Amino acid sequence: MAHPTEWKGSYYDGQSLVPQHVTVTVEPVGLSLHFANGITRIWNYQELRQTQGRYLGEEVRFERGTGIGETLVISSANILIAIHEQGGSHAGHFHHPGTRLTRVYWTLLAALAVIPIIYGIFTWGVPWLARPITAAIPLSWEIQLGQFVQQEFTAGKSVCTNPKLIHAVESIMTTLTYPIDTLPYRFQVTVVDSPVVNAMAAPGGYVIVFRGLLQDTGSPEEFAGVLAHEIQHILLRHTMHLIVRHVSMAFIISALSGDASGMVSYALQAAHTLQTLSYSRNAEDQADEQGFQLLQQAGINPDGMLSFFAKLGKEQTRGTVFRYLSTHPATKDRLAHLEELMPPVSTTYRIFPFQSEWAEINTLCDAPPGSPS
Ligand SMILES: [Zn+2]
Repeated sequence: MAHPTEWKGSYYDGQSLVPQHVTVTVEPVGLSLHFANGITRIWNYQELRQTQGRYLGEEVRFERGTGIGETLVISSANILIAIHEQGGSHAGHFHHPGTRLTRVYWTLLAALAVIPIIYGIFTWGVPWLARPITAAIPLSWEIQLGQFVQQEFTAGKSVCTNPKLIHAVESIMTTLTYPIDTLPYRFQVTVVDSPVVNAMAAPGGYVIVFRGLLQDTGSPEEFAGVLAHEIQHILLRHTMHLIVRHVSMAFIISALSGDASGMVSYALQAAHTLQTLSYSRNAEDQADEQGFQLLQQAGINPDGMLSFFAKLGKEQTRGTVFRYLSTHPATKDRLAHLEELMPPVSTTYRIFPFQSEWAEINTLCDAPPGSPS
């Protein structure tokens, strides 16, 4: 079979997107480009880079000059064989199609190897990678995510706005967070008007409490016990850690880069994770222990934390209690551990100004008619 001696090519001058048709011949020193207007130009092999045409089915592309230089595109790869025959050592830096098939196999093999690696990262790698990833997420990104997650949790539900209730709840939150030296978040608590007994922590300092739980607390101390536990889930970044372990790679890349675009879809993923999955037993113990310390630092009687969980444990047959107890089981172990944390000597604790009114305050939700919202 006779080898072709000339090839049809498209020449781009680097300024216009319209190609000029050229006929190309292969010479010992370079390629000869014959233009339609009769002009012939020689492109020396040393000035050329081959930027495409290493794989089967690809066009061969040569570039000349820096930046957007001149380009020559030839659809047939056999010009490369001719270049190697004619150009010898001058043409050594061009791809030889003879090695093409091997290269295809290697590429395929590499692609096949990547699949289990990615799978491995997701199934085995992420659990231990989750901690350093969580630590590397910028605080501002976490706070922004938390804002969206909080909106997601309260979307379509009414939120309690009664000023007396809000004042009491916020004052407990402030009392609890005041002793923390450097507060990374502005802690906010939202009460959702729902009979469900539940409380959730979202990243960035957002705590969501359902009215059902609030009404089950018999004192400000019991409510403070739940808040202290949830605050610690946020401060210890358990919330972010849980999310990082169960979201998409795109979420993680975006979180690490601090890029806020696509935040709404990430908040949906995060809210879904927080609603359907639980923290590890270890994280729960940590939140109990450090929540307990937080109560003591704030001068709030930590007995409330213990008594509230013990009470919920007794009420677990009630359907509405199930939600919170499913993630915070009042097991014997847990209660015993909380009891161990109790100081041996009795201390004097703070009395909230609304202490005696708690049984009335925790039933409020709607703002009274005519009050400013
Ligand atoms: Zn918890």
